[in-house]
Amino acid sequence: MRRKMAAGNWKMNGSRAALSQLQAIATATSDVDVDTLICPPSVYLSEALSCAADTSLHIGAQDCHFETSGPHTGDISAAMIGDLGAFHVILGHSERRADHGEDSAQVRDKAKTAQATGLTTIICLGESEDQRLACNTLDIIAGQLATSVPDTSTAANTIIAYEPVWAIGTGRTATTAEIDEVHDFIRARLVQRFSEEGQEMRLLYGGSVKPGNAAEIFETDNVDGALVGGASLKASDFVPIIKALAAS
Ligand code: PEP
Repeated sequence: MRRKMAAGNWKMNGSRAALSQLQAIATATSDVDVDTLICPPSVYLSEALSCAADTSLHIGAQDCHFETSGPHTGDISAAMIGDLGAFHVILGHSERRADHGEDSAQVRDKAKTAQATGLTTIICLGESEDQRLACNTLDIIAGQLATSVPDTSTAANTIIAYEPVWAIGTGRTATTAEIDEVHDFIRARLVQRFSEEGQEMRLLYGGSVKPGNAAEIFETDNVDGALVGGASLKASDFVPIIKALAAS
């Protein structure tokens, strides 16, 4: 049985003052039986972990380097994330692929290092609008899945987030039919490659998930939760999404 998860990606948003939202989210969802996670900017990780201490809200990172340490100015390592007491890291987000030229092989190397360090990796995949319009979505997903997800992946250390690039931060959401098709495809590929572990890996949908569309998305087969950007910044938006997931 796959446990549901609502994960929030704050991207390069937030402030020390905004960390008060963490306590608000944790308090409002203390009796909700799903995993909840917020990934703030790395400079706030330590303080965010303190804010969420003694609550069920997990705090994670948005990226890490594939090396364990060394001359990589501005980067953080998986070990540093673990050292702070966090257990999750998002990898291969389309904004990192676009802004930093990360390719799937780098994402795989990051995931390998993070998994070896004991972190759970949330590995993001998704097609661009041009790729969807050219009817290449499943080929793109197959390629990203094969290359970004390392052989060391298990149900315990890996969560896959399907995030169509054209739906991220745009207010456009994939239809439930589109989500259904891609999630079923990802599930089949994961089972083919990882057998029972692939059956148990959680699949999150991401792309303009909001309180108003969450319930419908969570009814879709093989959707085990969501990776949420903009609507995770405020408890008043994120809490209804978490509750919709719990009710699904
Ligand atoms: C994301 O950042 O992963 C995301 C899905 O963003 P948004 O929910 O704002 O579309």
